[in-house]
Amino acid sequence: MFQSFQPPQRTLMGPGPSIVHPRVLEASARHTIGHLDPAFGDMMDQVKIMLRHVFQTENAMTMPVSAPGSAGMESCFANLIEPGDKVLVCINGVFGGRMKENVERCGGIAVVIEDEWGQTVDPEKVEQAFAEHDDIRILAFVHAETSTGVESDARALAEIARKNNALVIVDAVTSLAGIPLLTDEWQLDAVYSGSQKCMSCLPGISPVTFSERAMQKIGSRNSKVQSWFLDLNLVMGYWQSGSGGGRSYHHTAPVNALYALHESLVMVCEEGLENSWDRHSDSHQTLVAGLKDIGLEMLVDESVRLPQLNAVKVPDGVDEAEVRRYILREHNLEIGAGLGALAGKIWRIGLMGESARKENVDFCLSALKEAIDQQHALSYVA
Ligand code: PLP
Repeated sequence: MFQSFQPPQRTLMGPGPSIVHPRVLEASARHTIGHLDPAFGDMMDQVKIMLRHVFQTENAMTMPVSAPGSAGMESCFANLIEPGDKVLVCINGVFGGRMKENVERCGGIAVVIEDEWGQTVDPEKVEQAFAEHDDIRILAFVHAETSTGVESDARALAEIARKNNALVIVDAVTSLAGIPLLTDEWQLDAVYSGSQKCMSCLPGISPVTFSERAMQKIGSRNSKVQSWFLDLNLVMGYWQSGSGGGRSYHHTAPVNALYALHESLVMVCEEGLENSWDRHSDSHQTLVAGLKDIGLEMLVDESVRLPQLNAVKVPDGVDEAEVRRYILREHNLEIGAGLGALAGKIWRIGLMGESARKENVDFCLSALKEAIDQQHALSYVA
């Protein structure tokens, strides 16, 4: 006979999901109401207002997509790309590669520039690509590359696109609420994020925002958006006007997950967005100093390191996976592995949202030290 699932209680310090605050969990357990109930409409309106604040935008088209970050990504590409559109894609890790996939699946032509994993997107290469192709319609890049822990200069990259009359799609899945992301000031056109990173919400929701310029391009499409579910022209009717009526059924929103998003947004607003950025930065400084004390080095140069995703080099002779297994087993603490070319070479320590607190940093440092010491002791005995 099956029984209710009781998950182990973990401290989540990997690449996401991050620790979910009890207030957010409690919000998600409240009574389910109808997704067209006027009370739900009022709450959705508040979600949109608070999302505009965290995205630092006035964009009317700011809303949560009812699916994870990958759906927010697809929403931006599917709506903005028409077959034959040329899109400049910057790849410096796993998620830039996914952008290229999206462009091609939408019938676009991807012009790719690559930077080494662990390096930032190079604005000079972007300038050069625009100089070589005068028909690029869109620039796409990842602001915070979760696979490597690198921040790219979104302001500088967007400026180049603007000079070349191209729209800008930005992956902000890991950056939103963790580091400054100034959608309007930097003139970003389509930005997508995820609920489970620095917002510390349940996984499964993808906040997105689209500029007026982006909405004009979508409004003047010659072809239908290939995805019915993600077609903004249809989704808009569902997310516009709240209790005043006029909302029309498109899909059934994940009602309780949106209560959770509402609560996590309330918490970000209570703390203050800038204080949230500062807390991520402070936790990161504490972690880096502690790692140095136990003889561990960072992969990424200090000038472009993300505070919320720390790529730590695995020392020679240490079994990367065994360390992660040890701290999960002995301390219920999760950290992440390297991906792709970095598999086995780095650990990824997430300081996202609720995970970015001094007590968690101290806990992680002591568990990591213990796991490495344990391996050294075993190899000494052997
Ligand atoms: N983009 C980046 C930079 C990510 O880190 C992730 C997830 O880790 C995604 C996109 C995809 O988000 P999700 O796993 O919520 O679909």
